Amino acid sequence: MHRFTDPHALLDQTTTLSRFLSYVQVETQSDAHSQARPSTPGQLVLLEQLRQEMLALGLVDVELTAGAFLLGTLPGNTDGPAFGLIAHVDTAPGCSGDGVSPQLHADYQGGDIELKDGVVILASENPELALCLGETLITADGTTLLGADDKAGVAIAMGVVEYLIAHPELPRPSLRIAFTPDEEIGRGAHGFPYERFGATAAITLDGGFSGELNVETFNADAAWVRVTGVPTHPGTAKGKLVNAITWLARLIERLPADERPETTEGYQGFFHVTEVEGDATEATAQLILRDFDAEALAARGALLRALAGELITQEPRLRVTVSVEPSYRNMRPALERQPALVEQLLEATRLAEVEPRVLPIRGGTDGAMLTAGGLPCPNVFAGGVNFHGPTEWICTRSLGESMAVVLHLVQLRAGA
Ligand SMILES: [Zn+2]
Repeated sequence: MHRFTDPHALLDQTTTLSRFLSYVQVETQSDAHSQARPSTPGQLVLLEQLRQEMLALGLVDVELTAGAFLLGTLPGNTDGPAFGLIAHVDTAPGCSGDGVSPQLHADYQGGDIELKDGVVILASENPELALCLGETLITADGTTLLGADDKAGVAIAMGVVEYLIAHPELPRPSLRIAFTPDEEIGRGAHGFPYERFGATAAITLDGGFSGELNVETFNADAAWVRVTGVPTHPGTAKGKLVNAITWLARLIERLPADERPETTEGYQGFFHVTEVEGDATEATAQLILRDFDAEALAARGALLRALAGELITQEPRLRVTVSVEPSYRNMRPALERQPALVEQLLEATRLAEVEPRVLPIRGGTDGAMLTAGGLPCPNVFAGGVNFHGPTEWICTRSLGESMAVVLHLVQLRAGA
């Protein structure tokens, strides 16, 4: 086992950092309102740039598929199944990613970081900053997001490949690379070419600050409650009007107040009313239901139905229907059937002298969808902090630390 405990050396020996700075300057915001694949043309610009870079590095089977997945292979030097490295090229729709101007803050000495337009990265709100004294930080200029989510992941995968090509003595399985579009709008894994990818396991490089590893996500359902009342003229409504809005509001009010996004954290699940529309005749609420535990998630759907039943008991002239549809599922049960993969990931992190922080993701990832699709795929930190906004930042050391984790993992997958 060749050890990597100097993240700066890995950055000095590869072009990871300059690749990262180049990728963030390509505008790749995804757009949920577009039906195209990828949803925005900028993503194709970056995918094409990456295709050229893969070919220049000497990867084989380089292919940009019709589904906008960029695939490539670094052939292995040991037997054994192929292993996958996956990252997404799009950035979040909620904050501009146009004209990103990366700012390097060398030898950070602590304190707040002031950017343009009054945007300030507060040391008090970013405890990770205190772990980066003396390091080089990268931010945007205050007018856009940075795009470390997930161009750091893309740069780390490319840097690892570059390093391995320069060091053929390191044992490695065949490495399959996939760069995906539209992760931020929940379509990243749609149509993933599992067979062509051919790996039996993979990681997404899409996590936060150094040490963060994710092996579990929410289970997620979408739910709709539709209430139909009895309309009448309000002047002669006494004893007749059954107002759908009033009764829907009553049902929402009965949802547990300590099980909302704003009152939960960690492993706690929630009901979140995302949209209400309607009139006195008919009103509909749209909800998302979240829980790490599958049975607890099912209980949330059951509670909605029970509350609907209570309304009808109180007011038999109402009609109330509840429908629940699955959105995505926790990857943990499937990963528990692959204990070696998670163990190797933890060991790879410790070998890099980075303390693993295994955190539940209060959301979904491409890895959750890929795991559900049969490709076990935990998520590994790529270093960024404050995703999806103008205060996003990354410490360059984190890029090197993530590379070190992957280089250990690759050797462990090769049986080293
Ligand atoms: Zn991401």
